[in-house]
Amino acid sequence: VVFPIAALEQHGPHLPLFTDSILTDEIVRRAAARMGGRVVFAPVLWLGNSDHHLDFPGTLSASPRTYLAVLNDLAENFLRHGFRRLVFLNGHGGNDIPAKQAMFEVRQRHRKRGDLLLLVATYWHLADPAARLEKFGLRQSQMAHACEWETSMMLRVAPQLVGDFRRVRPTRTKGAFASGTRAWVTRDRTKAGHLGYPHAASIDKGEALLQIFAQGVVEFLERVIAWDGRSW
Ligand SMILES: [Zn+2]
Repeated sequence: VVFPIAALEQHGPHLPLFTDSILTDEIVRRAAARMGGRVVFAPVLWLGNSDHHLDFPGTLSASPRTYLAVLNDLAENFLRHGFRRLVFLNGHGGNDIPAKQAMFEVRQRHRKRGDLLLLVATYWHLADPAARLEKFGLRQSQMAHACEWETSMMLRVAPQLVGDFRRVRPTRTKGAFASGTRAWVTRDRTKAGHLGYPHAASIDKGEALLQIFAQGVVEFLERVIAWDGRSW
């Protein structure tokens, strides 16, 4: 069973609050169409850990510990219903660490079981569009926020919800302390709420990215299905 997890949070001056949930839903829709009936997809959880965006209006967030508890509880629900292969499919950066921590906790609680496959995967880490940067004319080499990649995909999925992205100024994505991890609130990095190069977005890039990401999810789920139930 795949449990898609996303968010409802500010996405700069030009994208809707529901961006992460809309995009996760679209990638799930495309992947599900190709998996036949072999995978159960739960509805997208729109509530994510978005505390770092709370200075911007509209953001609705579960605080990190609340979110950990929600994911733990829902994972327990899936196990109670008999699922043994559970994938949290993530579509929001702030969910990455709590999702991994929640699955870690579930595994420790059920440590005697040998039949569980508990996985967390963020969709943009399952494929590497940057390897084809030139082919698609991408400016960014990685996912940012309300950026070239997200804006492009939103132009493809729900163009009526995209504002005037061409006038949005680029914002740096990497800081001086990469690859260390610096704790941040969004205000530290951007006044307008986005990170990256939204002005470089296009519908064609959006379709290419959606295809690449859906393909990454399909390939990952094929590995989950093919697992022999024992091996590491
Ligand atoms: Zn987003």
